[in-house]
Amino acid sequence: MKLSQLKLDSAKTLVGGDAEFFCVSTDTRSLQPGDLFVALRGEHFDGHAYIAQAIEKGACAVVVDTVQAEIAVPQWVVKDTVRALGFIAANKRAEFEGAVVGLTGSSGKTSVKGMLEAVCRQAGPTVATAGNLNNHIGVPQTLMRLEQQAFAIVEAGTSGFGEIAYLTSLIQPEVALVNNVMPAHMAGFGSLDAIAQEKGDIYGGSNLRCAVINLDDNYAQEFLARNGGITTIGFTASPIQYEKNSGVDTLIYGECLTPDGMGCYSFDLVLEGNRFPVNLQVPGKHSVNNALAAASCAVALGVAHELIAKGVSQFQGVAGRMQRVSTKCCHTLINDTYNANPGSMRAAANYLAHAKHSVMVVGDMGELGSDELAQHFDLGRYAKSQKIKNLFAVGELSKQTVAGFGEGATWFEDKVALASALQQQDLSDAVVLVKGSRSAKMEEVIELLVKND
Ligand code: ATP
Ligand code: MG
Repeated sequence: MKLSQLKLDSAKTLVGGDAEFFCVSTDTRSLQPGDLFVALRGEHFDGHAYIAQAIEKGACAVVVDTVQAEIAVPQWVVKDTVRALGFIAANKRAEFEGAVVGLTGSSGKTSVKGMLEAVCRQAGPTVATAGNLNNHIGVPQTLMRLEQQAFAIVEAGTSGFGEIAYLTSLIQPEVALVNNVMPAHMAGFGSLDAIAQEKGDIYGGSNLRCAVINLDDNYAQEFLARNGGITTIGFTASPIQYEKNSGVDTLIYGECLTPDGMGCYSFDLVLEGNRFPVNLQVPGKHSVNNALAAASCAVALGVAHELIAKGVSQFQGVAGRMQRVSTKCCHTLINDTYNANPGSMRAAANYLAHAKHSVMVVGDMGELGSDELAQHFDLGRYAKSQKIKNLFAVGELSKQTVAGFGEGATWFEDKVALASALQQQDLSDAVVLVKGSRSAKMEEVIELLVKND
């Protein structure tokens, strides 16, 4: 791609000649010779401070928001370098001939992405979001990796209004999915309806040819209505409810759901009338939802049914999400510390409900807005209703979770105290699950438990 070939608008100026580039870098630590360096201004850093370093490492040109005096490479001067990054990525996307899936939702985006990637890789070269790079910087970085692949799977996240619409304008998905709508980032959005509206913008791209809809989600009908003229694929883990009048063009469902001793589900995946046995390696009933979501996207992409069933069965999980940790401290230790919101906390409690002896270890859930205390209290009550035996908690807000749970729950000043109290229990037959928001850093509890093995 040449800078001069990008369809520049009047706000952008090329200074010091043209440059051809293949890759874009926003971080000099990973910059490779020949990359275009885009200087981003963040809360804690300013890429403009690293321009000399970028040039020294071989950047072919730089994108900046203020003209840089006396630099040896061409510079593209723009009003907003984040937008410029998006603009370059959108151009790259426009050249891509493979099929693009855009997916969002409150929970399970990375998990669905991983499952779908496992499926698509069997059918052809696939590029997918690395890790959790799902925002206005990560999505362009993903799109810049588009080359000759057959499939691209792009995760889009949001923490404020308009973000999904913007990311969708870059991704231009042919297949789009809202995995679910749950109260995450309530502080930013105010209501569940607002979250649904924001997430639903993933269906707003002009390339959309198939909308994948979670029929078990409360907002399924809204999303169906929104996709009036578009082909729809709906999925459900309760097919009886939807067999009639589901309103979708194609119905994909899971039947005969059976958990094993670890809470990993086997089920029959029914794809366009064909039935395939699936054995998930990732625990939790919500993983069935994620598998159905991935399978539906894969059907939309035209992947062979056998490969879909094989791919979702092979998926091994993503670090920190319902991951089994090897330890002597208890029968089964589940590291689900990557993140939490009320929806995913309930999914974790549902998972524990299968165990005879279960311990839920929770930290605070962040960004819940004004009813954060009530949300924590409700979580405690919910965990109790799932017959979880003990709840161990750390963090100010989690005092409410303990109050909601009642007898059997204990609050701790810090993680060291929590871990040592936990280890004093007989956990030889217990399933222990550890979870909290990213800010709660509950992986530290896992580290303490494993360290003392
Ligand atoms: P993020 O917003 O941080 O990118 P994400 O949407 O990508 O999150 P994952 O990373 O896949 O989601 O999973 C995050 C948490 O949500 C994990 O704790 C996981 O167990 C839980 N989770 C995954 N899928 C679902 C689901 N379908 N319903 C409810 N909870 C889920
Ligand atoms: Mg994610």
